Amino acid sequence: MRLGKKRSTIREIFEYGNRRAKIVGRENIFDFSLGNPSVAPPNCVTEEINAFVAQEKAEVLHGYTSATGLEWVRQAMADSLNSRFGTAFNKDNFYMTVGAAASICIVLKAIACPGDEFIVPAPYFPEYKCWIENTVGGKCVLIPAEPKDFQINFAELEKSLSANTKAVIINSPNNPSGAVYSEETIKKLAVLLEKTAAKFGHPIYLISDEPYREIVFDGFKRPFVTKYYKNTFICYSFSKSLSLPGERIGYVVVPDEMEDCKDVYAAVCGAGRILGYVNAPSLFQRVAGKCADKTADISIYNKNRDVLYEGLINAGYSCVKPNGAFYMFPRTLEADDYAFCEKAKEYDLLLVPGTDFGCPGHCRIAYCVQTETIERALPLFKKLAADYGIR
Ligand code: PLP
Repeated sequence: MRLGKKRSTIREIFEYGNRRAKIVGRENIFDFSLGNPSVAPPNCVTEEINAFVAQEKAEVLHGYTSATGLEWVRQAMADSLNSRFGTAFNKDNFYMTVGAAASICIVLKAIACPGDEFIVPAPYFPEYKCWIENTVGGKCVLIPAEPKDFQINFAELEKSLSANTKAVIINSPNNPSGAVYSEETIKKLAVLLEKTAAKFGHPIYLISDEPYREIVFDGFKRPFVTKYYKNTFICYSFSKSLSLPGERIGYVVVPDEMEDCKDVYAAVCGAGRILGYVNAPSLFQRVAGKCADKTADISIYNKNRDVLYEGLINAGYSCVKPNGAFYMFPRTLEADDYAFCEKAKEYDLLLVPGTDFGCPGHCRIAYCVQTETIERALPLFKKLAADYGIR
């Protein structure tokens, strides 16, 4: 019963928006609460669904698959990463999942032992804490953000590493800041984790949660993490890159370079079983297998970022310019981010307080909305700023 007591703030704001829309009309609600992609999936998704439905025997198409995922699909995942990122994966490095949420829960379950600590640098996706504490009974160690650029706060990370550290969870491009970790950040992290693992005599895993991997702007080069640190799990999903969040399809990568990789892979399979996932959706494994190199039209998010960023800066807000994902994380105009987001509601601007992401004094704006919605919201952001004496 305890589990139903605390709801996600993001979901609560989203539900508030739905209630409010019934009163003032949907078009007058500026709902920036939820990371639901606003861009349609690429054409290949519908084409492949139709082709599989037409060509595959229904009992095969909708049947169970092997727990790890279809072999050709896993090989397609490997080929796609190898051609785009110069890696050398094969099908046996992949375990197909029900999206990134499942990927992360499975990895946590595969590696967690009693007393383990999992380090999460802020700003972070709030579900991590929930999964660490409830799925595996681990301790979630939160690290304060580095608000000047939202890279990792290494001074705080170093202080938090201990003999009990089992893993560090990173997310780049980041939800909520939109920051993309630089090569310098990843290299520094790899050196620190190698050093700490050697000191304590056991591996420290890096869990790289990367559902926004392909949503990167201005040609920014996002480092591929397994190339820098061997004990890295990749937790991926097609929720954002192919705009398929409701279809629940993703994967875990266990690289060959990982210590005891075969045993770890077996533990991932065991964890998927224990958590009751059985197999990833059969039809959407196939669709992902065919569309792994494609994305939805990312340029729309790039445009939204530009329009929103320029508008906010012109209105007097301060914000680190995001390089990826579809979130912006400006400073709130008063220290209490909850109070600020409440005030924003007076203009029907629905924002999420930064405290929920471990970073008070900020708010998250999910700009995966129509560009026109942002354009119509900007005068309201201006009025909100004026309430704080900014003109
Ligand atoms: N990780 C991050 C950082 C996310 O933002 C999300 C969803 O918004 C997830 C994981 C979960 O993704 P999925 O829908 O693939 O389970």
